[in-house]
Amino acid sequence: MPGVLVVGAVNVDMVVTAPTLPSAGETVVGPGVERHGGGKGANAAVAASRAGATVTYIGAVGDDDLGRSALAELRADGVIVDNVEVITRCPTGVALIVVDENGENQIAVGGGANSALSVEHVHEAVSASLPETGCLLVSTEIPDRAVAVAVELAIAAGVPCLLNPAPVTPVVHQLVGSGAILTPNRGELAALTPSELAGADRTIEQAVVRARALASRSRAPVVTTLGAEGSLLVTATGDAERVPPLPATVRDTTGAGDTFNGVLAARLARGTALRAAVADANAAAALSVAMLGARAGMPTDGEIDAARA
Ligand code: ATP
Repeated sequence: MPGVLVVGAVNVDMVVTAPTLPSAGETVVGPGVERHGGGKGANAAVAASRAGATVTYIGAVGDDDLGRSALAELRADGVIVDNVEVITRCPTGVALIVVDENGENQIAVGGGANSALSVEHVHEAVSASLPETGCLLVSTEIPDRAVAVAVELAIAAGVPCLLNPAPVTPVVHQLVGSGAILTPNRGELAALTPSELAGADRTIEQAVVRARALASRSRAPVVTTLGAEGSLLVTATGDAERVPPLPATVRDTTGAGDTFNGVLAARLARGTALRAAVADANAAAALSVAMLGARAGMPTDGEIDAARA
């Protein structure tokens, strides 16, 4: 069966739990400290692998202990990391994460090797993997040119492509209309649509207005994640359907979007129709927020099926 190819960032996450999130200049002290594998690309690769896909991950690490442990964690989750670029004299990316009592988070990322991922490497590695790929998932946090080359190669080869615009960088605007399916969250959707559409931006109706505007420009479906309100599928022709959230026990929402994207890619690679793939991704993401750490709560294929039954 065709697999999932993921191009994006890999980080080591340092997670602190505290009563509240710190404001500027403030220090908060909490009891918890944990270290986890992270990075939107690598997290989504793990989510896709747990959901049953054969997953190849392309990204970059430093030639250091953090990089070796990040790759070992991916391998342990069944992700193929043979084509990860190892960059000397460049540290592996690190994310500093604070999680409060409500499960909300605040994140600062030091890109390190992710910021040095070379276009040449991405071109070569993506080209080599595309023949066995059923869905390419690309996220930002890596150089814009690397994002562009991966998306363009997949589209040219007729391989379905998801672009997770997290964060929205200039290349995302350029790739609207490329044929890639965009998967923004609410804030990213607002950043990708005209400010004149601003208004009651907390409502689902407003998200529909914005997603329709983006889908019409992209000439491709737009899948928006709405946090505790589930997700929203808008087709290229503007048909909108909200997928309600599964009830969730929220411990840590870090990685919910990555779980959503990884499972969506796994299902599309398997040939699942987009509507059903979004429903599975929505269910998997709700399961993922119950555990501390981006990857700990990512469900298996069987757990996703059970949650949807
Ligand atoms: P993050 O950056 O924290 O990974 P995100 O901002 O990219 O997340 P969200 O829109 O917050 O993405 O969440 C992604 C998906 O996770 C949602 O579409 C939904 O399916 C699921 N989800 C998130 N929070 C909840 C919740 N409280 N209850 C149920 N499902 C949730």
